[in-house]
Amino acid sequence: MTGFVDLRDIRLAYGPGGDGTLALDGLTMAVQKGEFAAVVGPSGCGKSTLMKLATGLIRPQAGTVEVAGREVNGPVSVAGMAFQNPSMLPWRTTLQNVMLPLEIVEPHRRRLSAERAAYVERAEGLLEMVGLKGFGEKYPWQLSGGMQQRANLCRALVHEPQLLMLDEPFGALDAFTREELWQVIRDLHAEKGFTVILVTHDLREAVFLANRVFVMSARPGKLIVEQQVDFPRPRPIDLTYEADFNDIVHELRGHIAQARAAA
Ligand code: ADP
Repeated sequence: MTGFVDLRDIRLAYGPGGDGTLALDGLTMAVQKGEFAAVVGPSGCGKSTLMKLATGLIRPQAGTVEVAGREVNGPVSVAGMAFQNPSMLPWRTTLQNVMLPLEIVEPHRRRLSAERAAYVERAEGLLEMVGLKGFGEKYPWQLSGGMQQRANLCRALVHEPQLLMLDEPFGALDAFTREELWQVIRDLHAEKGFTVILVTHDLREAVFLANRVFVMSARPGKLIVEQQVDFPRPRPIDLTYEADFNDIVHELRGHIAQARAAA
C-alpha cells in the first residue's frame, strides 16, 4: 500500500559507514494523507530515527522513503516539526519566533517582505487558534511552558505544511496542560486537515489523538502492531475515562511490554 508518507523495508544503522548501532531493520510503514498517526514503542526502538528519516534529515542504508509521492533525498519542505523542547529564540518575540520558518522555507522566503502584512495576519490567526491571542509581542521567556509549546505548534504550522511531525511535543508538560494541548492539536488537525505523525511515550495521548497507532519492536525497530482507533471526532477529553478507550490503551501497553521482554 502506498501512503502520503511511505517507508519501505528500511535499514538504518548509525556510525561511520553505518557500522554502529542498528536502529531500524525491516521497517515498513505507510501513513495516508490526512491521517493522524501515532508511533509508540520501547525507548530506544528508533522512533526519533523514523522521524528524521521521514523529514529527510538522515538517509537509510537500505529501503526507500517517500513523502507526497516523491523519494526523499534531503530536507522535506512540506513538513513542519515540533519537539519536546520548544527552543524559542529568546531575543525574538513570540510572533517573530512563529514567523521564523517563513524566513527560511521557499516560496515564503522570497515573498515575505512584499507580503509581510498577510503573513503577520496568518501567524496571528494561528496564535489565536491555540489560545494565544494578544501574546505575540511577549518574549518566549515571559510565557509558561504550555504557552511556549502552543507557540511552537504555530511555528511548525506557519508555512502551512502538509505533514506535521511531532516528537514527544507534550512530554515536559504537567498532566492538565498536556490534556489542554491535546485538544489544541486535535482542533488544528480537524481545521487544517494536514497529515500528522506523532511520536509519544504516552499511550493515552496516542489513543486520544490518532486514528492509527503503530507499535514498534525493541531495537532494531520495526513495526509489530497497527491499531486502528475508530472513536468518532471531535473526541471529548472525557473519552479518555471510558472503558472502550482504556481497553485499547491496555492492549497497546501489553504489546509494548511484550516487545520489551523480547529485547
Ligand atoms: P527512540 O526515539 O525510540 O528512543 P532513537 O531513534 O532516538 O530511539 O534511537 C534508536 C537507537 O539508535 C538508540 O539505541 C540510540 O542510542 C541510537 N542512536 C540514536 N541516534 C544516534 C546517533 N546519532 N549515533 C549513534 N546512535 C544513535
